[in-house]
Order: sequence, then structure tokens, then C-alpha cells
Amino acid sequence: MKRPILIHPDPRLKKVCAPVSDVSDDLRMLADDMLETMYDAPGIGLAAPQVGVLDRVIVMDCVKDDNEPPQPMVLFNPEIVAVSDGVNTYEEGCLSIPEEYAEVTRPEAVDVRWIDRDGKERQQTFDGLWATCVQHEIDHLNGKLFIDYLGPMKRQMITRRMQKLKREKARA
Ligand SMILES: [Zn+2]
Repeated sequence: MKRPILIHPDPRLKKVCAPVSDVSDDLRMLADDMLETMYDAPGIGLAAPQVGVLDRVIVMDCVKDDNEPPQPMVLFNPEIVAVSDGVNTYEEGCLSIPEEYAEVTRPEAVDVRWIDRDGKERQQTFDGLWATCVQHEIDHLNGKLFIDYLGPMKRQMITRRMQKLKREKARA
């Protein structure tokens, strides 16, 4: 089931999310709803606070080529355990900040540990777009948005545009 995506600014997008204790059917359902919501948007990553749930859950699929099979990933309690020295700059966007894009520099590769959909502990190195995406989504679990990496002027400008967008949506 698709869930509505919260738009910045929203206090729930600024909260530090709580770890999940064990992988229940409810959590699996949340993850499946998040994947459906992400694909529908469409986007390549989504974090639980973006659908108003303050749990440490993210989903991703960074396969961009339509000829490649999809690679949906569900990560419970994802944790960055190591980062590369090298960095990468990508133009990032966010489903909670529609139509706004900005360059953000982050480590080009990260080792991440998490609990998967079956409740198993996993660890993997992510690089390229996957590395940027997993860092962007884990930031969401700590109440951090990609615009927090920008200067205050640019961040305020984007926030004002989002406030206007929300007013227009509320009237529609
Ligand atoms: Zn985002």
C-alpha cells in the first residue's frame, strides 16, 4: 500500500529515529509499503520518517537502467562502519523536497551493516550512486536532510519554496 510522503519542512523529518528491535511482520509490511511508495514516486531511496514512521528503516533501488532487473533493498538499523578517504559529488534530490537539486560531496564508498528483511545481519560495501543514496537515507534517520549540507542562504531559499508548495497543495 502506497503511503503519503511528508514534505519539508515537517518536524518529523528532523527527528532521530529509534532502532527497531526485531523484524516483525508489521515492519516487513512497512518496508514493502515504502518500496511501493518509492517506485511509484519514482525515487531510488526512501527512509521511514519520510512516511511519518520514526523507525530506523530505509529502502533503496539504485538500478537506473530499465533493461536491468530491479534490486530492491530493505535495511533495518543501517549503520555506517567505515568510509573511504575519497569523495564523490552528486547532484542530489529528495522525495520530501520535490523538484530541488543540489550538489553534495560525500565519501565515495561506505561499508554498511544492517539487518535484512529476513532478520539476518548483513554487511556490504556500497559505491557509486548506491554509496550516495545509502548515506542520504541514513541521514534521514538522524533528522538530517541533503539541504543541511548547503549554505544557509540556499537552504532558506529552498525551504521557503517548499512552504509555498505546501500552502498551494493545502488549498488545492
Ligand atoms: Zn531524501
